[in-house]
Amino acid sequence: MRPPQELLERYNVPTPRYTSYPTVPYWKDTIDVQEWMNAVGETYRSTISREGMSLYIHLPFCESLCTYCGCNKKITTNHDVEDPYISALHKEWLLYRTAMGARPVLRELHLGGGTPTFFSPEHLGQLLAPIFASCELHPDAEFSFEGHPNNTTREHLQALYDLGFKRVSYGVQDNDPEVQRIINRIQPFSNVVGATEMAREIGYRSVNFDLIYGLPRQTEESIRRTIAQVLSLMPDRIAFYSYAHVPWTSRGQRLFDEHDLPSAAEKLHLYTTGKEMLVANGYTDIGMDHFALPHDDLYLAQRAGKLHRNFMGYTTQSATALIGLGVSSISSLPGAFAQNEKTIHDYYARVNEGIPAVKKGYFLTDEDRRFAAYIKDIACNGMASYAPQDTETIDALCMPMLKALEQDGLIVCHESGLVVTPRGKSFTRNICRAFDLHLTRDIAARQQVFSAAI
Ligand code: SF4
Repeated sequence: MRPPQELLERYNVPTPRYTSYPTVPYWKDTIDVQEWMNAVGETYRSTISREGMSLYIHLPFCESLCTYCGCNKKITTNHDVEDPYISALHKEWLLYRTAMGARPVLRELHLGGGTPTFFSPEHLGQLLAPIFASCELHPDAEFSFEGHPNNTTREHLQALYDLGFKRVSYGVQDNDPEVQRIINRIQPFSNVVGATEMAREIGYRSVNFDLIYGLPRQTEESIRRTIAQVLSLMPDRIAFYSYAHVPWTSRGQRLFDEHDLPSAAEKLHLYTTGKEMLVANGYTDIGMDHFALPHDDLYLAQRAGKLHRNFMGYTTQSATALIGLGVSSISSLPGAFAQNEKTIHDYYARVNEGIPAVKKGYFLTDEDRRFAAYIKDIACNGMASYAPQDTETIDALCMPMLKALEQDGLIVCHESGLVVTPRGKSFTRNICRAFDLHLTRDIAARQQVFSAAI
């Protein structure tokens, strides 16, 4: 069902993706490293040794700059950087292994970037060998990596498949040559076809494509062509992300002529055009920018009420601890988050001295944990049930937004919770937003300061 245009316009406001709650802007700028490592040890004793953990490894190097990019990356064509970076990752892993005290169970592994396929297949094997040697593998372990269609070779795919990787995610973004020229990502569609076919021939179970709407010079016609080409390959999953124009933090975006960017209304139209094509061709809207075919595990997990969410987005794995290795990586434990140093220089300085690289983070209060659970339940299962002690807070801080969402037919409220309606699914982020107490209190405090000032 297509939501009416006025709803799309009303809710088309910048809203977090809620891969964490509280969201990163509300974390503390510093974190007590010892307290963090103690929390890792405690989590190991209470959950990692039993249910397993997720591991994210950030591989930041790319050979050329895509100007839209908001990731933490380092542009270089010098592949001598691979060895020292792998050695730093091993040192960081050893610090975590020591904090855990015994062999952890590995349940989920994701290589992200940057460009993981910047590294040679041999180096990727050398990176993972000592990590695998020091872990038990969970029987349901799932390994995935991000591949660049321009440089993912059969050797990469085979080497990682032999190590247990069964999922690959390709950054397709947009196939239009003019858009690709402006974003400096020249990527002939034949490369996407080749990388996809190789993965399937080798035996990968799931191929994901990342696409972006709202890029400079994208038009309805160009997005239709891109999606039609994507549909010729029917990837198992598609992430259809909104381009975030933040030139003050992503400097490459300053190279864009802002006149080339679609207006807010045009951007929304690009999204609805793409989404309609995906849904008409058998994809289900999982929520929060993700689409999946009915045989895919993400779709099946959602149907079974077993979908989870962490910093990597939606996942079928239920591990509650995620350890992030590498520059800028984020880790999360049931009660805490931490992010590593953001520059390679600072990252090396920390791990080469045997100090964990975590720089900033947050330890959750009991209230944070309960509201994080409401947000996760809405994102994954389309419902939330409130704890009795939150009634007053929800009435005071969430209800105004919830009432409006209910009037618009996006949720149905009941005495102690809510259910997302089929129409509400496209507005999952906005519904989660109602439970973001940090943002609501922050806005209220700023309004107070503002009214006091005038
Ligand atoms: S979009 Fe990907 S490949 Fe391009 S610069 Fe960013 S991280 Fe590197």
